[in-house]
Amino acid sequence: MSVSIKAKSSSGDSFYTVDFITKNDTLFVLCDCPAGEWGKFCKHKWQLLNGDETMLADVEEHSKLVAMNQLAVEKGLNDLYKDIDVLEKQKVIVAKEQKKQKSAVKKALSKKKVLTEDEFLEVHAPLYAADKNIAYITYLMAKEKEVLEKKLKDGF
Ligand SMILES: [Zn+2]
Repeated sequence: MSVSIKAKSSSGDSFYTVDFITKNDTLFVLCDCPAGEWGKFCKHKWQLLNGDETMLADVEEHSKLVAMNQLAVEKGLNDLYKDIDVLEKQKVIVAKEQKKQKSAVKKALSKKKVLTEDEFLEVHAPLYAADKNIAYITYLMAKEKEVLEKKLKDGF
């Protein structure tokens, strides 16, 4: 079975075609956007798989979207997504911490006293830790997205 759905391009003035193909009970998802063709993370595929109707270039294709989302869920889409979902939640928590530490640094630096280098570094340590944490989570998410893309290409 093969179903094609047109997904909006980010500029909104054109569309890409996402193909959902089942062969021997395995679902393959392909997109003809530049990212999709290079095997990079393609939001057209993922948002359509997740049933995101704002991605539809043609509202008439809504029932196809619902059907493909159902199929993907039955095929274990949620399991595919689990790792990235965990990372996304972690990122939100660390981003909050980062924001908190940024204002703590701002407050500490606004005092009249001139800090020594050690004191300066000490004031910044929690912020640097949060920055490093965010950088690592972002890296992991990029790697995880590569894995997800491969799974769509190899079928699931
Ligand atoms: Zn795409």
